[in-house]
Amino acid sequence: MAYKSDIEIAREANKKPILEIGAKLGIASEDLLPYGHDKAKVSQNFINSVQDRENGKLILVTAINPTPAGEGKTTTTVGLGDGLNRIGKKAMICIREASLGPNFGMKGGAAGGGYAQIVPMEEMNLHFTGDFHAITSAHSLLSAMIDNHIYWGNEQDIDTRRVAWRRVVDMNDRALRQITCSLGGVSNGFPREAGFDITVASEVMAILCLANDLKDLEKRLGDIIVAYRRDKSPVYCRDIKAEGAMTVLLKDAMQPNLVQTLENNPAFVHGGPFANIAHGCNSVIATKTALKVADYVVTEAGFGADLGAEKFMNIKCRKAGIAPSAVVIVATVRAMKMNGGVAKADLGAENTAAVKKGCANLGRHIENVKSFGVPVVVAINHFVTDTEAEIQEVKDYCATHGVEAVLSRHWELGSEGSEELARKVVALADSGVGIFAPIYPDEMPLFEKIETIAKRIYRADEVLADSKIRGQLKEWEAAGYGNLPVCMAKTQYSFSTDPNLRGAPTGHSVPVREVRLSAGAGFIVVVCGEIMTMPGLPKKPAAETIRLNDAGQIEGLF
Ligand code: ADP
Ligand code: MG
Repeated sequence: MAYKSDIEIAREANKKPILEIGAKLGIASEDLLPYGHDKAKVSQNFINSVQDRENGKLILVTAINPTPAGEGKTTTTVGLGDGLNRIGKKAMICIREASLGPNFGMKGGAAGGGYAQIVPMEEMNLHFTGDFHAITSAHSLLSAMIDNHIYWGNEQDIDTRRVAWRRVVDMNDRALRQITCSLGGVSNGFPREAGFDITVASEVMAILCLANDLKDLEKRLGDIIVAYRRDKSPVYCRDIKAEGAMTVLLKDAMQPNLVQTLENNPAFVHGGPFANIAHGCNSVIATKTALKVADYVVTEAGFGADLGAEKFMNIKCRKAGIAPSAVVIVATVRAMKMNGGVAKADLGAENTAAVKKGCANLGRHIENVKSFGVPVVVAINHFVTDTEAEIQEVKDYCATHGVEAVLSRHWELGSEGSEELARKVVALADSGVGIFAPIYPDEMPLFEKIETIAKRIYRADEVLADSKIRGQLKEWEAAGYGNLPVCMAKTQYSFSTDPNLRGAPTGHSVPVREVRLSAGAGFIVVVCGEIMTMPGLPKKPAAETIRLNDAGQIEGLF
């Protein structure tokens, strides 16, 4: 049987006018700011007006360590949202916006897949409502104002060798990673080394996603450290006086975007921070607003649960004062097989022994998520190639670990395929057994926070860091940053820092290469491996085959 591509399915969607979708949530038309017919921003007035309401229940979708076989977190998030609506619950979805850069590199979007998708998917994956353009502009304004400040006499005494604020563009462009700027003579300023990151790696993105409101946004923007003086004291964004104008540029981008699923159920798609040097989930403002207008809110965290769920709990939930009532861990038979040592080319053949072996990875994620005090269910995201025996293997494994594994066929069937998962999630979320707590307190010293995550989540024996890094952490503690959470940046493919170590490795150590202070976002980034903040395009970029067909439709994107 031939299956339709994501874009073919999305094109056939029977979308409802966005005002009707808003009405389902009780958002009146005057509180929706439509961008065309199928997208709208929710007004700040409306957001303010619902603050006193009770919160709905938050459900986090996370996954095992990703493999090239694909796990389908977004697909499952969307499928579960539709499933909850199908069984009569007032439910909505919150996911991240897509970065423009990767679309032109590797094929694949961020709107889900099969019959579990958000629409309009092409727009969501391209310019959408312009939020990322606004973030790029706000970031660029600060970059320009820093060099301008230096040009006009450098009153703040910035050491031009220590400008920490880089430039951004929403494109995969390795040529810009490291550049020399201000060349060409006196009127162009003082030549110095600089470089570009992709927009989603901007601290402005992380700030927009963690800010509670516009006031909070402006304060956090002001807190950004942009450079250091020769005496190593920090120069803040507010010293350059950029935060007011940046907030103006971000005013509309702060408002959540309402769209719909293929089944006309509501979804907020808002914000998209990197999952390595940032926390990797949609905006706090979208999640909090969703909790006021829906009884169940399904949201996704990037990467596997060791990174995504850990940061969701320890950073986002802690800062926003929210808590998940249940967690769904997405697993696939294919990924279990890869974790069990099968090569990608051999995934087609039944191999229950490899599935069983790979389940060790799932088992550890289950234990880890439970350690946050939240109830867990495993969703087996069904691929049509999975065999009965392989599926049973995963179910049996989970049963011995005290959790249920539910087969979900939303990719193939839409909400009809996720009904059982939805019922199970409701039962868990309503059981009230959740006693959520982050796994370390604010007061814990920074290095101990890193150790706590490394030992309890990655199951490493030790954290390795030289005296320079330890000293830096101590300096930040002395400067009043000791209460911040840590944001781990390591490979997503393994519990360890070695991407090839699949399954559930033990006996490893976590080397910390570098620590960075994101004072505006409010976390300390702990870099444990190669971290790419400006991706490149592959040898044959998808862009080569993307075009408009005679009907004006986009071809080659997904
Ligand atoms: P993640 O959020 O974990 O990165 P996505 O949900 O975006 O993953 O899915 C990645 C890709 O895998 C998408 O192109 C989607 O269409 C595909 N996919 C997801 N689930 C299935 C499935 N059950 N069968 C076939 N393809 C799937
Ligand atoms: Mg995703």
